[in-house]
Amino acid sequence: MQRESGCRRVLVVMFIAMGVICLTAAPYVWNRYLSGLIPPPLPSFPPAPPYTPWPTPPVAAGFDFPLLPAASYGPLPNTRYGVHNPAFGDRSNCFRDAGGGGVPFSQLYHAGIDLFALDGAGQTAWGGATHDPVHAVADGVVIYTLDAGADGYIIIVEHRLAAGPALSEAEGSAVYSVYWHVSSVQVREGQPVARGQIIAVVYDQGFNSHLHWEMRAFRDGSNLFPAGTAGARGTCNGHFAGVGYTWDDDPARAAPDYYGYLDP
Ligand SMILES: [Zn+2]
Repeated sequence: MQRESGCRRVLVVMFIAMGVICLTAAPYVWNRYLSGLIPPPLPSFPPAPPYTPWPTPPVAAGFDFPLLPAASYGPLPNTRYGVHNPAFGDRSNCFRDAGGGGVPFSQLYHAGIDLFALDGAGQTAWGGATHDPVHAVADGVVIYTLDAGADGYIIIVEHRLAAGPALSEAEGSAVYSVYWHVSSVQVREGQPVARGQIIAVVYDQGFNSHLHWEMRAFRDGSNLFPAGTAGARGTCNGHFAGVGYTWDDDPARAAPDYYGYLDP
């Protein structure tokens, strides 16, 4: 008898405790939702138009920012173009030096710019860019899309700079815009896109949601980097996507503009 009432008392206490926890947690969850830390649902888009095989891109008349309005996004000091990010430390990312050793992530040069959302005061709004629309920076043709798994998708768009009979990378008549850490891809390889067209949204990386935006003068890194250099060893630069970071054994070739990455 005494044991049974003890059980009942424990159950009552547990019930009250659960009620208190729910009542305490509800405003917290609601506030997190309101502050945007819990991402809103994805916007809905019309389906992508049918695949068009590799047309010649129109000449790009002008360039814009991939996240709009441009004033609402900006890089952190460590996520600008051409900088090292000491915060990444000694872990080797993707480059091997001439001796085969892993190059510390903190020594790599950022080949693009990481755009985070800014609040009204111009401060970083962590996670605020989640699912924001990503726009093509100019008229062009999508030449590459890749599901990079936990890093989101990569999209590369080719932009023609001068009128002429054929597009020639050697003549410098094209540039390429690269969008990384995106999801809900709205375009396919071979599809023409117009400046400002929504091609994807910023991939949800929690507080770290950002767009890696890269501009470069080369299409395919696997044909670009001389044999024996870090870029040719099948590392970050030495394949088609070639996104993110650059490095070289020779310091004179290490900075990203040497091989044709451009400062957006
Ligand atoms: Zn980046």
